[in-house]
Amino acid sequence: MNEQFRVFATCDIGEALHLLRNKGYEVEVYPQPEPPPKALVVEKVRAGIDGLITTLRDKIDAEVFEAGKGTLKVVAQYAVGFDNINRADANRYRIPFTNTADVLTEATAEFAFFLMGAVARKLWSAEHLTRENKWGYWHPYLPFLGDEVTGKTIAIIGTGRIGLAMIKKCTGFDMNILCYDPAYQNEAYVRKIQEVLNLRHAHGISPERNWIKYVFSIEDAIRHADYVSVHVPLLREGESPAPTYHLFNERTLRMMKPTAFLINTSRGPVVDEAALAQALKENWIAGAALDVYEEEPLPAGSLLRDPAIEDRCRLYPHFASAGRITRLSTDPNKGMAGRCVQGLIDVLEGNYGGDPAEMPYVVNKEAFGK
Ligand code: NAD
Repeated sequence: MNEQFRVFATCDIGEALHLLRNKGYEVEVYPQPEPPPKALVVEKVRAGIDGLITTLRDKIDAEVFEAGKGTLKVVAQYAVGFDNINRADANRYRIPFTNTADVLTEATAEFAFFLMGAVARKLWSAEHLTRENKWGYWHPYLPFLGDEVTGKTIAIIGTGRIGLAMIKKCTGFDMNILCYDPAYQNEAYVRKIQEVLNLRHAHGISPERNWIKYVFSIEDAIRHADYVSVHVPLLREGESPAPTYHLFNERTLRMMKPTAFLINTSRGPVVDEAALAQALKENWIAGAALDVYEEEPLPAGSLLRDPAIEDRCRLYPHFASAGRITRLSTDPNKGMAGRCVQGLIDVLEGNYGGDPAEMPYVVNKEAFGK
């Protein structure tokens, strides 16, 4: 029988919470769909909980860690991105936090791929035409045409887990692939993808011999791409030698081809939205499809809602990981819920010899290095 651990979850993550309850944990869940006020989270932590389950909506910083001094043992984040958690503060208080990497990789990459198709082939405008009964005729090019994805060149910005999964999906569409990542180049993966592309051509499956390569600057990637798909973490000034805050700004958007599309499923602040709205309005680029925003939910007055760019700007509600299995499976190898709960259990029950540096889902291992 476990010691009765107390856990507060800032939102309901489904069946996986029963795994904790079945182990005898006392689990309290914030009952509303909206995020709890920070003061409430601080109050729960101060009341002595052992574990806190968070999502990307909760700001977790020194105030929270201070409230949990001596009692809070783990923060289990239900997401792969953790820009809402102040890593330096967590390390100062030596509180491990976990994330749910890997299990959402394929779902997020396929969503990015679908966004690319939706904006390029004008799925939204085409459906409106049909629904609003404005489809008056079949015509070779009226009232509009879309742009093909097949055979085009894509730039993958950030070749971590999701970027590599996106590359895999693009190979099935005979795409050429430019990869850019200042910190991590998976040359072996790129070599294997090139072998697949060669084989597809050799067997007559792909008409052209498609190619994939790393380039050394973001300019080299985006200047030559028909599609640019962004798969970086949000890293602000001081958090990385290559910060990603406003990586896409007036300068980089102007480098893109006027026929190119930007797809962002990473984090909103990676794109300067004011610059993007201007880029769309003034036709520096052909279109954009976004799942994430500088402020979420997207404010009513956002420049991105401008009707003048509506047909070329697809907007989705931070939905890329929102597949049924990906979000809710209790299996830590399949679902965010299962992995989140397992990360929490590992820390509270002292798995892996009780060493957070050895625990697979702990992010800030550096705080526990020997
Ligand atoms: P990852 O850490 O495996 O990969 C990120 C890659 O970006 C790394 O290889 C890193 O070196 C690279 N990178 C860092 N700075 C860069 C820069 N300046 N330029 C180019 N590349 C840079 O992470 P992941 O699992 O692939 O996830 C990526 C991000 O996607 C997450 O951090 C999260 O913010 C976002 N995400 C969003 C959703 C969604 O629902 N929209 C779902 C999952 C993940």
